[in-house]
Order: sequence, then C-alpha cells, then structure tokens
Amino acid sequence: MKKFGESIIKLRSEINYCKSCHSISDSETCSICSDSGRDSSIICVVENIQDVMAVENTRQFRGIYHVLGGVISPVDGIGPADLWIDSLEEKVKEGGVKEVIMALSTTMEGDTTNFYLYRRLNKYNILLTTLARGVAVGDELEYTDEITLGRAINNRNPYQQ
Ligand SMILES: [Zn+2]
Repeated sequence: MKKFGESIIKLRSEINYCKSCHSISDSETCSICSDSGRDSSIICVVENIQDVMAVENTRQFRGIYHVLGGVISPVDGIGPADLWIDSLEEKVKEGGVKEVIMALSTTMEGDTTNFYLYRRLNKYNILLTTLARGVAVGDELEYTDEITLGRAINNRNPYQQ
C-alpha cells in the first residue's frame, strides 16, 4: 500500500505541462511546440489535453495548440481569469501569429468562450476562425470522430459574432 502510494506521488510529480501551450509534456516545452516542422503562425485553441489528442489524431493540422484548461462557465464559477487566456493573448501580442482557430465544444459555454476570445483578440491583426459545421451542436470535441473533426478543421470558417 505504501509503495503504491509512493508511486502515485511519483507519477503526479512527474507530470509536467508545456510552458507555452499548457499541454502535457515531458519537458519544459512539449514535442509539438518544439517541432520546427509545425507552423507556429496557426494556433488551435482547445479546452483540454484530450482535445489536443483528438485533433492530432485527425492528422489534418500542422499548426500548434493552446490549451485553455476549460471554458467560461458562470454556473460552475469558471471565469476568464481561471483559464489560460492571458498567455494566449501574450502569444498573439508578441506577433507572428496569423490565425487562431477556436476549436471549442459547440455548447453554450463554448460559444460564450468563443465570443470572449473574439473580444480579446480581434484588435490584433489576425484571422479568427471556428470549426466548420459537422461537429454537431452540443458535441464535445474529444468525442467527435476523427473524420468529422478532420473535415471541420479543414473547412473552418471566419468567426462571426
Ligand atoms: Zn506546447
């Protein structure tokens, strides 16, 4: 039992997060952010690490990610300050970013977050896009099948208020 407990502690302390995209990582910067073959001018904003994996599984996306850590949900007491939004804005402000894809769940909370991100990022000279329809309304990204999600990434649309 003691050994088991120690191994859990070890496991937990060994989980690191990428300082750039907040995805899970073995090192300070994850393998996607540090891959020079990826296009760092396109940032795909997702809610969680499972969503990074879901988009990666489509093999349709060659940009980088930014994990928010959730969506804005007043009912659950989650506001913008609880999410990795400041660091996203910093990244955009630094320059070099051409497009931010808001690949969030098509739920009310996802829509609220899209709108908030739009308000925060629209002042910078970037393209803000959302996933194309095909991801059914109410769907959580991580449960969307690869083909549908791959199509939605490729056919993304400029965000409209
Ligand atoms: Zn990263």
